[in-house]
Amino acid sequence: MISKSSENTVATTHALGFPRIGARRELKRALDAYWRGEIDQDTLRRTGVELRSRHWALQAEAGLDLVPVGDFSYYDHVLDTSALLGVIPERFGREVGEDGIDLDRYFRMARGRAPRGEDVTACEMTKWFDTNYHYIVPELAHDQRFTLHARGLEAQLDEAHAKGLRSKPVLIGPLTYLWLSKVRDEPFDKLTLLERLLPIYAELLHRLAGRGIEWVQMDEPILVCDLDAAWQAAFKAAYQQLAAQHHPRLLLTTYFGGLGANLEWALQLPVGGVHVDLVRAPEQLSEILPRLTEEKVLSAGVIDGRNIWRTDLEAWLEPLGRAQEQLGERLWLAPSCSLLHVPVDLAGETRLDDELKNWLAFGVQKLEEVALLGRALREGRASIAQALEANRAALAARRESSRIHNAAVQQRLRAVSPTMSRRASPYSQRAPLQRARLKLPLLPTTTIGSFPQTQAIRAARRDYRAGRLERAAYEQRMRAEIEHTIKTQEALGLDMLVHGEPERNDMVEYFGELLEGFASTQQGWVQSFGSRCVKPPIIYGDVRRAGPMTVEWIRYAQSLTERPVKGMLTGPVTILQWSFVRDDQPRAATCQQIALALRGEVGDLEAAGIRAIQVDEPALREGLPLRGSERPAYLDWAVRAFRLATAGVRDETQIHSHMCYSEFNDIIQAIAELDADVITIEAARSDMELLAAFAEFEYPNEIGPGVYDIHSPRVPSVAEMAQQLEKAAEVITRQQLWANPDCGLKTRAWEESKPALANMIAAAQELRARI
Ligand code: GLN
Ligand code: ZN
Repeated sequence: MISKSSENTVATTHALGFPRIGARRELKRALDAYWRGEIDQDTLRRTGVELRSRHWALQAEAGLDLVPVGDFSYYDHVLDTSALLGVIPERFGREVGEDGIDLDRYFRMARGRAPRGEDVTACEMTKWFDTNYHYIVPELAHDQRFTLHARGLEAQLDEAHAKGLRSKPVLIGPLTYLWLSKVRDEPFDKLTLLERLLPIYAELLHRLAGRGIEWVQMDEPILVCDLDAAWQAAFKAAYQQLAAQHHPRLLLTTYFGGLGANLEWALQLPVGGVHVDLVRAPEQLSEILPRLTEEKVLSAGVIDGRNIWRTDLEAWLEPLGRAQEQLGERLWLAPSCSLLHVPVDLAGETRLDDELKNWLAFGVQKLEEVALLGRALREGRASIAQALEANRAALAARRESSRIHNAAVQQRLRAVSPTMSRRASPYSQRAPLQRARLKLPLLPTTTIGSFPQTQAIRAARRDYRAGRLERAAYEQRMRAEIEHTIKTQEALGLDMLVHGEPERNDMVEYFGELLEGFASTQQGWVQSFGSRCVKPPIIYGDVRRAGPMTVEWIRYAQSLTERPVKGMLTGPVTILQWSFVRDDQPRAATCQQIALALRGEVGDLEAAGIRAIQVDEPALREGLPLRGSERPAYLDWAVRAFRLATAGVRDETQIHSHMCYSEFNDIIQAIAELDADVITIEAARSDMELLAAFAEFEYPNEIGPGVYDIHSPRVPSVAEMAQQLEKAAEVITRQQLWANPDCGLKTRAWEESKPALANMIAAAQELRARI
């Protein structure tokens, strides 16, 4: 209970970071305009200043005590850290000025191109832990030098200072930075660089101390991953060294999971405090309390920074009260992680119905929740009685709402049996039946699904949504687009065709809008990378398919050609992974519901005479838990969901899947267990090397390793692609091999796609004659 005696203890409240893109995607607009040469750098920078100022004001107005500085970024905070530490790969130019790197060079590192200067191969991009946010991977050489370029951060501190705010600089800690980096040229142990890196951090901390900074948020989220002895030792040595001199106190910040086996020693590190994620790992609180030494602060991450539900405030009062009794003012409150992963403000949603809206909290609302809990700790629960009452009522309404529970869905779920997740016959028996029916040549050619999304297609979709275009006219345009796509594929000579996906804005949003139990937002944007944002649907209730979602489009496409057209669906794991998921039942249960809905669609496509159906799972790898011990359970339910969606078809119906990433080693077994007849994967950028994993595993079914990279406008030559295919044919059998691009063509233009596909087909023909 929160007692009156806690009245004069102060619970510091703060946020670890705030979305930088802006409630109306102001940063996205400014970036795109700058890259197109429409605005100058000063105008772009003014947008940055305005957004920072607005976001700090929101935090201060909510009543938070400390504001993060350094969480803003023009592209990515890991890239910012590289700039701060002077980690600039040579191809971007060597000399770095006093002020650090200029913005154009920064953008070239991120995306290969900037308004000024020559194009350069951009740095790699990869997913930030288990989120759908992508960071720019730092590249380290074995003789890497580090140099401090803190002017940018200091300028932001000045901005905050001028507003009279208490600032808390946010840094990525040295160990996490090394962990996220890749090594260039010859492999070497990244930890050998720590010795050179630490003096730079020490220098920075010293400078921050000179500015009167009391606290620095040192993000070390790798503490929630499995760390071997070398990394553990490096942590201890690094923080000992940083502690040896006078500087601001460090808040060692972890998120996305519990400290687990790292808890015991991490709590011994000589830092000012720790931040832990009590949403993902609430059990940590009672493990930490008896172990936290006298001088340390505990920042309790109690508001979910990864999801959009209102917090049950009442449920936190008791455990937080207990913690406060022991810690007094050493207990701090915050969201579980940076709010980067949630949309900015619920107030922007004018079309969501009030009932549903009342269950949600976006970034701004989460700040208020932190502030409310802080107030309860300071002044007693009575001080927030009204808010608590409203919170209780909203949660009760959600729990009891008839919109959440659907008896028909529950009944279908109870009827799910293990045989429903198994194809009738093994692949070896299905393959000849499919070959006979599909009449495909050796090395069949296909594409991944989408064809160029032209301005005209986007405009038609926009006009239809806005009510400016009648449904019939819209459908007519889409049919014309499909017809064009089918004719083009026939003319090119592709063997297995697709309809081209013109009607889809996004591979998840499209299904989210058609499935029951899903809601779409208007402004619920979350940064994916750079200026690119996604608008994840919200899964609030039992998932049901109201009716066929894709059948008419595919049936129409198939009616135009003798060649097989693939039905095209997004898989259950990917829909789950790229949505905000309900928190009142396990993710596995929601995934199974989505799978059942998709199973109905697969069945309808088959009944409509569609001979091949592709179910994309590009997010299967991303959903993999950070800790090894949790992976088998995840892979088990994820694979079962895919199979539940797909295994209901007859032997002669060919199931395809697609995944666009290249790290297959940890999940090759699971991929085999999907038992898709054909999978298409990304391979071009890794030069077919990843096929080794499939070869070693003796992967039995068919594979289409992407023979060209669709992320680039370049048109690869016939010889180049023939060579890729030949390489592939060396490691997997020729009966297994398909020829296709790496991923969908929606971001490409027709001018590039047609010649590239023509060359790809020629390469396949050439190889057919040879092997
Ligand atoms: N079928 C989708 C497309 O071609 C797949 C996209 C993806 O895997 N990201 O666009
Ligand atoms: Zn893809």
